[in-house]
Amino acid sequence: MSDLNALSLVAQMDGLATGAFSATELVQAHLDAVDRHDALNAFITVTADLALDTAAQADAARVRGEASPLAGIPIAHKDLFCTEGVLTTCGSRMLENFVAPYDAEVVRRCQAAGFSMLGKLNLDEFAMGSSNENSAFGPVRNPWDRSRVPGGSSGGSAAAVAARLTPLATATDTGGSIRQPAAFTGTCGLKPTYGRVSRWGMVAYASSLDQGGLIARSAEDLAIGLAVIAGHDAKDSTSSREVVPNYRAALNSPCQGLRIGLPSAFFDARMSDAMRQALETVKQTLTALGAELIEVELPHLTHAIPAYYVIAPAEASSNLSRFDGVRFGHRVADPQDLTDLYTRSRGEGFGSEVKRRILIGTYALSEGYYDAYYKKAQQIRRLIKQDFLQAFTQCDLLLGPTTPGTAFAIGAKQDDPVAMYLEDIYTVATNLAGLPGGSFPAGLLDGLPVGYQLMAPHFAEARILQVAHHVQQVTAWHQLQPEGL
Ligand code: GLN
Repeated sequence: MSDLNALSLVAQMDGLATGAFSATELVQAHLDAVDRHDALNAFITVTADLALDTAAQADAARVRGEASPLAGIPIAHKDLFCTEGVLTTCGSRMLENFVAPYDAEVVRRCQAAGFSMLGKLNLDEFAMGSSNENSAFGPVRNPWDRSRVPGGSSGGSAAAVAARLTPLATATDTGGSIRQPAAFTGTCGLKPTYGRVSRWGMVAYASSLDQGGLIARSAEDLAIGLAVIAGHDAKDSTSSREVVPNYRAALNSPCQGLRIGLPSAFFDARMSDAMRQALETVKQTLTALGAELIEVELPHLTHAIPAYYVIAPAEASSNLSRFDGVRFGHRVADPQDLTDLYTRSRGEGFGSEVKRRILIGTYALSEGYYDAYYKKAQQIRRLIKQDFLQAFTQCDLLLGPTTPGTAFAIGAKQDDPVAMYLEDIYTVATNLAGLPGGSFPAGLLDGLPVGYQLMAPHFAEARILQVAHHVQQVTAWHQLQPEGL
């Protein structure tokens, strides 16, 4: 690994500002690493020429004294964000040739800030999955152990950051897809509050749950990235007008007196001893920083997975109806008639997990079942949200594990969708409640990374980043890196 790849985003900004290296050198070092680690399969598309062009522009602007602090810093986008003139596949055969006519708002903001886009990152098809094995472009490998999954659906984003192919990656989280891969790869992932980051141009999976966010190597790097992508966007009617705070300035607010709730439903008998031990160390660190730990209840949390796996497929079945072989994506050759065009185009274009979700969702929304499944799931969703709001009257943040265990072997859960769905047991509830959540490294278990999760009230991302930043000042978990880079 080159010295430049080893630098965090903050250190890269400093190096560019002082002229220790140029943006062109920095971007080239990352493109070389992308090449060298092609076997991870983290990227679907590499945009080397574009990245080098932007880097050259950044270097020229810097000479003139006109460069923004992020000009020329490498970034890569999950291939669910539309990019003008560059493939956007969503990890699907359905969109394998799709070139969007516009940039997603997140992409546009990153470009306006001066980032150099290295390319588009692999993911589970349409963000449905917890292992990245559902990609039509093949699984992503975990840099810590290449026989294991990196988590999903933002597996490419997490693997790329863990392997130092990019200091920052965009990602999306509908039920855990930023936090779970971050936990599996020893990286930091932030899923902002629903509405904090524009969904414009982010291909929809389950619109009431989807939220764009970031994966990076430290809380400070996340704070810098979030400042770029957060904020109101008139093109997204669910985008919030809440003022965007100065996330970086807030990192140093003291943790003294913060009350951190431990939901008993997270620390129940299902938690392995090893995970309990890992979280114990996090708890001790937080106490040493002056935080107060208290127990809280989230009584309806056990219903989060069933509710999520009704609501998310229901919304997916509706969102994915636009892929019909007429307007977007794959179209079958020689259709006999319109029905044949629809059915064969969709049959060929979608993978099996996407088809399963469409079937479940269509069933749950159909007449006669709507009240029994969809309406019931929405009622549970409201109860879960109330549980969180109640808990936040007693504490400022919640702490829990991000995942039940560490990264599992490729293939281990592929034939058992329910086992795969249970991977999301600690993450889906925050999406149902629209809350922000972050996953941060808590060391290694048997050589594999493990993550802890912080959840906060709506729009309190700064508090999550502040606490994680303080932990990162007194521990070195976030600096651990896979061997062989
Ligand atoms: N694993 C969950 C699912 O498959 C979450 C995915 C996500 O957050 N995009 O729905």
